[in-house]
Amino acid sequence: MTQHFDYLAIGGGSGGIASANRAAKLGKKAAVIEAKYIGGTCVNVGCVPKKAMWYAGQISDALKYANDYGFGDYLAQDKPTFDWAKLVANREAYIERIHAAYQRGFDANDVTVINGFAKFVDKNTVEVNGELITADHITIATGGRPAAPAIEGAEYGIDSDGFFALTEQPKSVAVVGAGYIAVELAGVFYALGSETHLLVRKEKPLRGFDNMLSDTLVEQMAKHGPTLHNHSTPERVEKLADGRLVVHLTNGKTIGPVDTLVWAIGREPATDNINIESTGIELDERGFIPTDKFQNTNVEGIYAVGDNTGRAQLTPVAVAAGRRLCERLFNNKPNEHLDYSGIATVVFSHPVIGTVGLTEEEAIAEYGEDNLTVYNSQFTALYQAITEDYRDPTRMKLICAGKEEKVVGLHSIGFGSDELLQGFAVAMKMGATKADFDNTIAIHPTSAEEFVTL
Ligand code: FAD
Ligand code: NDP
Repeated sequence: MTQHFDYLAIGGGSGGIASANRAAKLGKKAAVIEAKYIGGTCVNVGCVPKKAMWYAGQISDALKYANDYGFGDYLAQDKPTFDWAKLVANREAYIERIHAAYQRGFDANDVTVINGFAKFVDKNTVEVNGELITADHITIATGGRPAAPAIEGAEYGIDSDGFFALTEQPKSVAVVGAGYIAVELAGVFYALGSETHLLVRKEKPLRGFDNMLSDTLVEQMAKHGPTLHNHSTPERVEKLADGRLVVHLTNGKTIGPVDTLVWAIGREPATDNINIESTGIELDERGFIPTDKFQNTNVEGIYAVGDNTGRAQLTPVAVAAGRRLCERLFNNKPNEHLDYSGIATVVFSHPVIGTVGLTEEEAIAEYGEDNLTVYNSQFTALYQAITEDYRDPTRMKLICAGKEEKVVGLHSIGFGSDELLQGFAVAMKMGATKADFDNTIAIHPTSAEEFVTL
């Protein structure tokens, strides 16, 4: 029997769920096919469990400040211990509650959820669990998966999925990679007390971010953070008789032995196993699905949203792209599309980073150095200011373009940089200038006020 839908999303992650719910709310018969767990990467092995682990790291940091806040006697009553397994159990219980909430949403919207792995048969038809499903509109929202290097012994390492499967805390760990995931996971391990090595193949992590951010992160890692090994590329991994791992580098050095090795060297699109050839879609050289600004692929009636398009691999981006696509298709809004510029993002590092808009280098390339005014600030957040050993600098940068000083880049590293960012991103989307920032009365005492008093 063949089922037919108006709208079908392949992949029940951020993009697939958001788009199918929107299609159904707009009166369409919609379905989502999910091979593993509803919620996809973000809910199950991404943003959500990562943030829980990051919060645990924040609590661990707070305990270090506690003595200076007068809690020394309190802490001395009982040596603080950390129970990784308990945290993981509570985290997973929360994720179960999210699964249930998604199901309630599908039920309310009348979205059909099909569990199974979908493969295309032709451009209008997919096969799942031996059944054929056809749809007028099909969105490929299959996301991605962690990449691993093709070196001897790579299989002894785990990836970010493996990190979330850890039920015990490793005593020592090496994390390889230089992007969001490497920096975030290394920060969590370190904050929770594992001996942590971060291996980057170039000079520093987060090279694509404003230099002020990556340089400050490196500076603070040197004081209290993972041991950073730059220019360090693994050549092979050796497993010792006791199970621990030694990472041999191309420069002849070794790292370890460590209990756990984590690969965090980027993610590959999940597009190679869905018989996409049968649709006529042409992938790019890395397997991503090229789309135009309306999320159209080169085949009419097939769209792609989220990580498998290779653009801004962030949950709110997948969600917004999926919703806007359905608004365009089903709500008579022919020009509805997602603007990929000025997307705010937070790296949940220790210390945390918030950033939106152009880096200084990008701004110079776009506007010319003479047309830019760059405001920098450095201070100690009050939260840390009263501590003895943790007075880290918070650094902020505002990049303004032209005579009107339009704010085109805003970057912050330090306590509170995560939660302060969203409102500033709204202002920038509306075209705010430095004068608009100056006109805004500060909220005192906060870190965010620095941006309106520069
Ligand atoms: P996914 O969420 O990956 O969903 C794709 C789904 O499709 C999966 O459930 C998969 O099982 C399913 N699927 C694949 N192929 C098939 C098939 N053939 N048939 C049926 N189902 C299929 N982003 C943020 O914004 N903030 C963060 O803090 C953040 N932290 C992250 C931390 C980590 C460790 C990782 C890995 C990612 C993080 N991200 C974060 C990125 C975010 O998770 C992704 O951008 C987002 O999940 C992409 O959504 P998506 O719908 O494109 O794909
Ligand atoms: P990223 O693409 O962010 O970073 C991976 C980095 O690893 C590369 O930039 C590269 O840096 C380095 N690298 C690549 N290949 C190798 C190799 N063979 N050996 C050693 N290092 C290598 O990927 P992530 O996996 O960290 O994250 C994927 C995406 O998920 C992110 O880009 C982000 O969009 C999203 N995400 C978002 C989060 C958030 O919002 N907080 C958190 C986590 C993920 P270099 O060239 O400098 O060596």
